[in-house]
Order: sequence, then structure tokens, then C-alpha cells
Amino acid sequence: MAVVGFDEALEIVLGHAQSVGMSGTERVGLLDAAGRVLAEGIRADRDQPPFARSTRDGYAVRAEEFSGGSALGVVGQVRAGERWLGGEMRAGEVLQIMTGAPLPDGADAVAMVEFVEKTGDRVRGVAGRGLRVGENVVPQGSEARAGDVVLAVGMRVGAAEVAVAAACGRGEVTVFRRPSVAIVATGDELVELDEAMEDFQIRNSNSYALAAMVTEAGGRAERLGVARDLLGEVRERVVEGRERDLLILSGGVSMGEYDLVEEVLAEEGAEFFFTGVKMQPGKPVVFGRLPERDGLEARYFFGLPGNPISTQVTFHCFVEPLLRAMGGGGVEGPDFVQATLGEDVEGKAGLMRLLPARVGRDRVRPEVRLVGWQGSGDVAANARANCYAVLPPREDGFRAGEVISVLLR
Ligand code: AMP
Ligand code: MG
Repeated sequence: MAVVGFDEALEIVLGHAQSVGMSGTERVGLLDAAGRVLAEGIRADRDQPPFARSTRDGYAVRAEEFSGGSALGVVGQVRAGERWLGGEMRAGEVLQIMTGAPLPDGADAVAMVEFVEKTGDRVRGVAGRGLRVGENVVPQGSEARAGDVVLAVGMRVGAAEVAVAAACGRGEVTVFRRPSVAIVATGDELVELDEAMEDFQIRNSNSYALAAMVTEAGGRAERLGVARDLLGEVRERVVEGRERDLLILSGGVSMGEYDLVEEVLAEEGAEFFFTGVKMQPGKPVVFGRLPERDGLEARYFFGLPGNPISTQVTFHCFVEPLLRAMGGGGVEGPDFVQATLGEDVEGKAGLMRLLPARVGRDRVRPEVRLVGWQGSGDVAANARANCYAVLPPREDGFRAGEVISVLLR
């Protein structure tokens, strides 16, 4: 049983993420693919652009002739969505052309309308305006050649990827199946949302928070309800949960007399990769694997501390990267970015702290400030945050103006 440092814990999780199995593929409509992970490479079905495309409204010209400054005759017009059928443009001729239209044969550049003087049906460049061959033209196939892979396996589909697939005529794509994730809450004090409760009882908010985070991370959440702090009940849920691709438990991993999760997992033959991480909140977090048994494959599990903010922080740090890999999205750590601390913060030795904070949207120098909170049960304070400020272990305080990492969520 090992309590490890924060970076070591991340490395351990990412190490397992390297070799994790995927749970098959399915074909979905393009818009249903948003948020999913591609299980096939998408290839360009033709050159992109499919023709030399004008990027400006203006005149299709021979660059050399145009730069020479002589008056040239306008012999026609090419609009987007049509092709010039008048044959090759001859010397001394130009064609009016619109953005998105194919460059006619014989032309090698487009002069922007802003830089052209027009007299009757003759045009010339405004004084001193030269034109390079290829200017304002995107050559055929320069973005992609027919057959090129334009979206790779493992890419997460967002609006930009939808645009590419649509441009390739793909109304359907093959994506990885969402890994199924069993969520078990443990605790004698927990009641479900629709149950009557005493004032010393607590609503099971973690199962819902976990389900929401699982969905966001590309998994399919299955809430298996609450297990009392009884070996039998916890065991029953572990046995049920191990039939899913991943098992997440919350609560019952601290040092208390009724913290039974590790004991049950150990009885079930679990291998533990860590049983605590030097972080705050989240220190008691457990990561391991249940062995192959009765035709069931080996299964990863996480035992997350029950304090709601601990649950959420440890999910983002450790569960999310593994789950994303299980969903075919490849091996990537959590989303850390840098921001400037907007206030002094006390130091703390021995623990990596990840504290609820708000990072501003300033373009030049985004500033991060802690959100006032009552500790790791304060879900309302955490909802006012939009990230976690990452404060490495140290005795000295942190100073306003220091650049620190924040964990986006
Ligand atoms: P534990 O990790 O079991 O020691 O629980 C730590 C704290 O988190 C206690 O105050 C619990 O009441 C609270 N807690 C545990 N599980 C949940 C849950 N599912 N939803 C909300 N709070 C919880
Ligand atoms: Mg408990």
C-alpha cells in the first residue's frame, strides 16, 4: 500500500492509460458524433480545394501582365458555383472573378477589386501594385489531396472536426463506444434525492456529480445507488460494478473505523497502484485493478474520497485521463494551463493543493483567485469556481503576481 506524490500518481495513471482496452465501435450520424472519439480515419474524398479557388473578389489575371501596368480587357465573369466555359484566357484578357470561384485556365493570380482601376470594360492595377503568381488563389489539393487522412483515429469530434467530415461528405462516422462506468456511493449517512431524511443525514450528491463528470469525459454512467458502511453491502456493489468497464466508488477510503472500501477490494483480490496521494483535497484516493475472474476481464477501479470537492478534484486528475483513454481518446494528462496569481496565498509543506478558484478571461494576463470556501464539503463554493489553483508543496507563501498552474474542468 503506497501513498505517492501527486506527479507520481499522474504518471501511474497515464502508464495504465497507455495499454487500456477499448470497448468496440459504433456508427453514428455526424451530429451525434460531437463529443465522441473517432474510431476511423476520415479521408478526403476529393482534392481540397477541388479546384484552384479565388480567395478574393476581383479579376483573374496573368500576374506578370497585370504587374506590367497595361490596360487589360474584361471578357467575362466567373461566379462561385460555376466554371468559366470560354476556354483559356488569352494575353491581354482578364475575367471578373468572385470569392470562391474557380480560377479560369490561363490566369495565375487574382487582383483584388480594391487595387484595380476600371474604365469601361478595361482594367489596370493601381500605380505601384504588383501581383505575385498565385496571389489570392488557393491551389487545387493544397489543403488535402484526395485520399489523405484529414481526421485521425482518436480525435475528439467538435465543431471543427464536424466541418471537416461534412466537407468530405460524411453524414455518418464510426466512433468508439462509450465505456460503461459503475458509480457506487458508500456511507451510512447518505440518502437519495427522493427520500425523506433526518437532519443528520446527507444527500448523495456525489453519484450525480460523478455521473455528470463521466458523461463529460465520454463515458456512460450507471449509478448503482448507495451502499451502507457494511462489508456485505459494499461487496455486493463491487461485484455488480465490476461488470462495467470501470468502477468508481466514493467515500469509505479514509482511516475511519467504517471506511471499508479498501478492505472489500482487497478481499476481492484487488491490486493497488496507490492508496493515497500527497494532495489536498483528495489525499485518501485509491487506484487499482480487480483481477480477471469467472470469465470477467480485469477491471480498473477508483476509490475516491467522499468529501464532494475531493471527489471532483480526484476525478479530474486521475479518473478522467484513464476514462478518456478507455474511450479511444489517447493518453493525455489533465488540463493544466498557466495563470497569474491575483493574491497572496499561504504555503503548505508536504501536499500539492488544488483549491477551488476562478481564472479570469483576460487575453494578455489571465489572473486566478481562490474562491472562499468552508473546506472540501462546500459544493456551493466549488460551483462558483471555474478551475482549481494548483499550489505545489512549500513552506513559503505564494505571492500575488506569481505564475501558477490551474486545472481546468
Ligand atoms: P468519507 O470519505 O466516507 O469519510 O466521507 C467524507 C465526507 O464526505 C463526509 O462528510 C460524508 O458525509 C461526505 N460524503 C460521503 N459520500 C458522499 C456522497 N455520496 N455525497 C455527498 N457527500 C458525501
Ligand atoms: Mg463514509
